[in-house]
Formats: sequence, C-alpha cells, structure tokens
Amino acid sequence: MTTEKILMRNFDRAESHTLRVYRETGGYTALAKAMAMEPAAIVEEVKRSNLRGLGGAGFPTGTKWSFIPKGHPGPVYLVVNADEGEPGTFKDRYLLERDPHALIEGMLITARAIRSALGFVYVRGEYVEPWRRFSTAVREAYEAGYLGRGFDVVVHRGAGAYICGEETGLISSLEGMKGWPKLKPPFPAIKGAFGAPTIVNNVETLCHVPHIIERGAEWFAGLGTKTQGGTRMFSISGRVKRPGVYEASVAVTLRQLIDDYAGGVSGSGRLKAVVPGGSSAAVLRADEIDVPMDVDGLRNAGTMAGSAGVIVMDETVSIPEALMVVARFYAHESCGQCTPCRESTGWIYKMTRRIVAGKGRKEDLDTILDVARRGAGTTICAFYDGAVGPYISYIEKFRSEFEALVEGAGTRAVATRREASAHA
Ligand code: SF4
Repeated sequence: MTTEKILMRNFDRAESHTLRVYRETGGYTALAKAMAMEPAAIVEEVKRSNLRGLGGAGFPTGTKWSFIPKGHPGPVYLVVNADEGEPGTFKDRYLLERDPHALIEGMLITARAIRSALGFVYVRGEYVEPWRRFSTAVREAYEAGYLGRGFDVVVHRGAGAYICGEETGLISSLEGMKGWPKLKPPFPAIKGAFGAPTIVNNVETLCHVPHIIERGAEWFAGLGTKTQGGTRMFSISGRVKRPGVYEASVAVTLRQLIDDYAGGVSGSGRLKAVVPGGSSAAVLRADEIDVPMDVDGLRNAGTMAGSAGVIVMDETVSIPEALMVVARFYAHESCGQCTPCRESTGWIYKMTRRIVAGKGRKEDLDTILDVARRGAGTTICAFYDGAVGPYISYIEKFRSEFEALVEGAGTRAVATRREASAHA
C-alpha cells in the first residue's frame, strides 16, 4: 500500500499555490499530453484508472463523463463542486488554498474529455481564503494562456446552504434560483446547468486527473483496491492526538488511519465510535474499524466512504448528545421541499433533545427508528437518506446509552445541558 503523497505533494512548499511553484514541480505537463489525446481516449484512461467521485457518492468518474450524449452540438458544461459542507470534512479547502492550479489543470483536461468550453467552480460561501486563492490562480492561468483559449472558468460563491452541495441543488443555485434539488432523472449529464449536458465533479476528484494522464491508469488503479484506484485525503477530527488532513491509499484501514496517521485516540484513550465518511455515514463501533476505507469496503461494513470525514469519539463522548448535534444539523439544513424530510428531521431533532434532557420515554427510541425508516427512499434527493444513516445506527449500536437516559439513569451527566433543557 502506497504512502506516496500525490494530491498533497506540494503542500509543505512555500508559495505552493502559485503558478511558478506549480510549474516548477511538473504542473501543466499532463495538460500538454492530454491535448494530444482524443477526448474518448482521455475518458477511457480515467475509466481504467478506477477513479471514483470523492465528494460523497463514489460514482466512477470516467463512466460519469461517458454519459454526455455522443455528438451533442453543445454547449456542455463542467461544474466543480467546491461547496464542501459535510460536517467533519475539510480537505477540498486545502486543495483550493495550497494547490489551486491542480484543480485548474484537472478541469482543462476534463473539459477536453467532455468537449466543454465553459466551467463553473461553485465555492462554499464560508470558504473566503480558498476562494481568494483559487480566484488568484484563475487569473494567473488566464495570463499564462492556459485559460481563455477554448475553455473559460467562472468562479461562483455560494451563500452557505448545505443542500447546495447536492449536485442538482448546486445547479439550481448556480442558475440563480433557490438551491433546491430536482428529481432525477434527467441526470445532469443529460440535462444539467441551463438545460445543457453538465458534468459535476468534486474538487479532489478532478485534482487526480492530471496524475492519471501523466502516470497512467494502471499506476493509479494499482494504488487502491480492486474497484477503486488511487489515494484520497481523509479529514480526521474529534478525539485523536493529531487531527488534520492525511493522504493515504483508499485501501488503508480505519484503524491504521486513527492509530498510524492521527496518532491514536486522545481523551480517555479508549475508542467508542467512529464516523468514517462525514456526518451522513452510519457510525461504526470500536470493534468494527478493521475495514478498508474504499467505497465498497465501507459499503460492505454497512456504512459509507462519503467525503472521508473521519470523526473519532472516545469513551467519554455521549452518543445521544452526538446524535442530537447531528439531528440539529439535518433539521436546520433540510430544504423543506419533501414532507418526510422536512417534518421528520425537525421532529427527530426534538425527540433527541428531549431524550438528552432526560425527559424522553422508552418508546421514543422505536418511534424514532420507525419514522426514520418510513421516510427513507421517498424524497427528491439523498439528503434524507443521509440523515437516516446516523439516526438508525447511533440508536441501534448504542441503544443502552439511550435507554439509560430515558429510564433516568444517565440524566445526571447531561440533563443540565443548557441547550437541551432550554428547548425540551
Ligand atoms: Fe430538500 Fe430534504 Fe427533499 Fe432533499 S430530501 S429535496 S433536502 S426536503
């Protein structure tokens, strides 16, 4: 398993965000190679590399590109999802701040592959410095002639809504409308931004593309597992000794990430639970962490790789409180279009708050599980299904902690929490 840094190879260099340093370290040579390739050959190379989307869904990138209708007269748009908002995830901001030209080069190569002349980069509104750095890099790329000769880039700042990270919500927002997701099909590759075929890719995903063209699909595929190539950046937070962003093969195990990369569990030193892929991923117990961190490995473990935001909880963390925080987030961020999502997220938050305040009833737990399950799969976008993952897994895997609270035994520790008491 590789320990080579690919995406983060320049992060420690001074001025790594500048065109000068990017070029000195081999930047834009893959673009020259790609310009000599047929678009279909680029798509094929990326398909064979087993690159999968690193924003959350994990869909094979080359396959996504191939969905653009053949012979479409245009326009075709490339949209970069830089609306990184999944709790526990903070890796795209590093790429935008420290290696923005990698994204521009990845966009230029992708644009050739899908025959696009215009790309949009939708940057999370709160990411002020990443937006500044990236905008400066775009100006440099125009001045150097990489942009503006057949491909243009528009940088767009969001306004802080989590749902705009969902690709159809992002497109709605980009079009100047409320950031509401739309029913699929049609998928964006057929009818996306402004009604035209559109490919939406995550920042990290596109930053891999120049390396795949430069070093070949076999090399990239060989870095990962059978069904997912390469490395990815893991955001590790919570109760670890060295929180931060780490790059590792997607074949790395969750235990290796916590112990070898992040220095082990802090706090009590004893692990209780881990969220492996951002807050929408089902939680894993301490005895479930010998699992590879690729898309299929985590799916087989009953959770998901998602955005690779790893949140570590030691034995002192209250799981009911952790669920209350997550539930508050989903209740706040639901766009409100679908009744099951709008009503259930708000209601489940109120129920978890009541339980944490020591005012819950034993039947509340099964009622929450029932409500969560009934709404799954009935909504316009995957937001609600993402929320259901934590609702169900936290209660099912740590039920005794919730039961202790509803029976009164655990209320001493948490019942005085100001927020829980104030609203229950
Ligand atoms: Fe909006 Fe939730 Fe429906 Fe998605 S599932 S469209 S976030 S209400």
